[in-house]
Amino acid sequence: MKERVAGKSRILTGAEAKQEEFNIEQDLRKIRGCPICTKITDFLADFFAHLQYELSNDESTRHIYAEELGLCPFHAWQLASFSSPLGISRSYSTFLDHVASILVTCAETSSNSPEKALNVVKDSATCSACHLVERIEEVYIRHLALFLKDADGRQTYARSHGVCLRHLEQLVNVVFSPVTVRFLLRDEAKRLRRISSDLRNYVSKQDALRRDLLTDDEKDAYRRSLVKILGGRNVCAHGNRGGSLG
Ligand SMILES: [Zn+2]
Ligand SMILES: [Zn+2]
Repeated sequence: MKERVAGKSRILTGAEAKQEEFNIEQDLRKIRGCPICTKITDFLADFFAHLQYELSNDESTRHIYAEELGLCPFHAWQLASFSSPLGISRSYSTFLDHVASILVTCAETSSNSPEKALNVVKDSATCSACHLVERIEEVYIRHLALFLKDADGRQTYARSHGVCLRHLEQLVNVVFSPVTVRFLLRDEAKRLRRISSDLRNYVSKQDALRRDLLTDDEKDAYRRSLVKILGGRNVCAHGNRGGSLG
């Protein structure tokens, strides 16, 4: 049986411990895209893979998941994509029985005009995966801001693919040095213009004769422009509160 941790989700297991392992320099050299979005995607993949395994195989996890009312719809669908029909059937039978008993209790105790909301669907404020995303963003951005304090760090960053616009906003909010803020904004403007130029070249080389002249950067500029503007596809939760998930 998993331990109950006061004030904390019990389905959020080992994923937190690894957050101090960030190697900013290595990430900036290796990752072709926003390093924060990439890290979040990797952490969520581990989290979902682990959770779906536990839900498929462990009765106590199924009960915990049901008692916590699972995840927000955005992340519950992501979890489902990691699960088999058998795994979903096992975990959601416990879940549905639990919600059914909540509804019956509400029906028995409510007056004709119940003032209290049902609260049987999670939102970002209570979803463990949303919390995980928020914590990774917070820790990574703090590490990255420290890394950018010296000129060598800024040079390494300038050679990388930089962060997406959403994470740039968060980064600028925690960087206090005006020099670093100016560097980040000019650097991002340069990147956006470079991608814009790659997009134009991609369009202009679409005729059969010139398609072979497309560079690798021009070929994936459309994908990089989306990641730059929107962040990673699986990163932005459709939360209904402010802050980094809003
Ligand atoms: Zn990002
Ligand atoms: Zn969520």
